[in-house]
Amino acid sequence: MNDVFMHAATTLENDFVKKWKSEGKCVVGYTCSYVPDEILHSAGILPYRIRGYGAGDTAIGDTYFGPFICSLPRCMLQLAGEGKFAFLDGAIITPGCDSMRRLDECWRKAGKDIPGSMPKFHFHYGVPHKYADYTVKWFFDETHRFISEMEKHFSVKVDDGKLRYSIKLYNESRKLLEEFEKLRSADEPPFSGSEALAVIIAGGAMPREEYNRCLKEFIDNARKSKGIADRVRVMLVGSANDDVELVRLIEGSNALVVADNLCFGTRLYEDMVEESGDPVFNLAKRYLAHNECPRRYGDYRRRLEILRQKTARAKVDGIILQNIRFCDLHGAENGLFERDLEKEGIPCMRIEREYGPLVEKGRLKMRVDAFIERIRQKRREIA
Ligand code: SF4
Repeated sequence: MNDVFMHAATTLENDFVKKWKSEGKCVVGYTCSYVPDEILHSAGILPYRIRGYGAGDTAIGDTYFGPFICSLPRCMLQLAGEGKFAFLDGAIITPGCDSMRRLDECWRKAGKDIPGSMPKFHFHYGVPHKYADYTVKWFFDETHRFISEMEKHFSVKVDDGKLRYSIKLYNESRKLLEEFEKLRSADEPPFSGSEALAVIIAGGAMPREEYNRCLKEFIDNARKSKGIADRVRVMLVGSANDDVELVRLIEGSNALVVADNLCFGTRLYEDMVEESGDPVFNLAKRYLAHNECPRRYGDYRRRLEILRQKTARAKVDGIILQNIRFCDLHGAENGLFERDLEKEGIPCMRIEREYGPLVEKGRLKMRVDAFIERIRQKRREIA
């Protein structure tokens, strides 16, 4: 496993970020995969995916949100309040869901109360909840509003030529990640699901040129490595997960996570951005369309079909449908997935968990162990 990725995935201000800052360049964080990295990249700014990773408690987060809300944005605010995001020059909040939308107002208030907890540039980037011609236009206009605010604040200029270059570079990553995905879901994958997650997470915390270079190296090495055999093949679905430890816990039970349908996962890098035509329009279209997430109404059947296809492609033995407590989006949809996929003979397990410091590892491990045993028993009966 390339230690570079594991370091970037498990350290907020990693060595790449430190080096970037030491060169006098800016870092702008964002909370959700609807923000086009290419725009920040083309302006010479490092795009950085904000996470709640490593929060030790949620005392600050609870003060502004209250405790009865998803622990992911609470952990993000906790870290901001503790000054862990002091390296950010800007923060972009997108309304992925209402909990995440509230991070915008809670962070603004905390920023007034706790000096240095909020970056000087703070932008709320609206994202429609449907995909249609008029919503692409809406998102396109919102993207232009973002570009103009960013240009004003950072005294930078985004032009079509630079944007096209950035789009090409990020498409290169997406092609590499397609290769990576084939290896991950091979009959004997050369790396574990926890290693795969680190590779994906690192993409949101490293300069893209460096990321592509390391990713190529990782894929070349993986092709020469011995595969992992005789594990129960699992797909992880549901709420955001950027915690390598959670995947390790699942894999500890003789399992291997060979596929996912997560926003810190394949949903992040599937689908290219068109390279010809208006680059801002192409970005708006791709970023609004790509993330098949339950925040978008009316597309349940399509998302179910995506799970069926991934199950077949990666020869998945069972699906873990998890949601962070109070996440109604994934909690409700996971119930439907379980009902429909179990009927088709695909074993599913639904779990509710917390994000970050509140995770009850013992309880989770017991449930996962029982699920893996259920699949093994089924295999024995068939054999
Ligand atoms: S896990 Fe669910 S509630 Fe939490 S931020 Fe994501 S979509 Fe929102």
